[in-house]
Amino acid sequence: MDIKRLIRDIPDFPKPGILFRDITPLLADSEALRHTIDLLAAQCAEFEANYIVGIESRGFMFGVPLACQMKVGFAPVRKPGKLPAAIYSAEYALEYGSDRVELHQDAFPTGSRVLIIDDLIATGGTAAATAALITQAGGTVAGYGFVIELLALEGRKKLPEAPIVSLVQY
Ligand code: AMP
Repeated sequence: MDIKRLIRDIPDFPKPGILFRDITPLLADSEALRHTIDLLAAQCAEFEANYIVGIESRGFMFGVPLACQMKVGFAPVRKPGKLPAAIYSAEYALEYGSDRVELHQDAFPTGSRVLIIDDLIATGGTAAATAALITQAGGTVAGYGFVIELLALEGRKKLPEAPIVSLVQY
């Protein structure tokens, strides 16, 4: 089954010059969505993760069903100000300025092996900041799983050492 067929290219979104890789057609196709989760589960199995952390918001769409499939818990990494309990916070650089992601301090038990999930890795800044949060919260990054990888941006070079899975590359 060809996942790439269900990823739609939207030029100049959210701003001029960005080619947005839209996963909503993939979400809309139940068989392809099932297949995507099965592939992530199969390829990430050897990481022996006992927790999944998904990155807001498209990381939730793949991370939660994957957690159900892998029979592990899920914790959300969110944009600033969304999580209600005590948090850890990590800043990362954007093309212009910086952004921040947050994780509950008690998101998972100390010593957990955590699999980071997002829909797409571009520059790697978001996933690298998420890895820093996981370490801060007392976990180990067991691996990274992405549906899409934008190879030219070399985001994987920015990630703290752990195995990386991506299903579709551009
Ligand atoms: P980065 O921190 O640069 O790796 O960016 C990753 C985050 O930004 C992910 O959560 C993606 O959903 C989003 N993102 C970055 N570039 C794109 C793109 N070209 N198409 C869709 N989403 C993108």
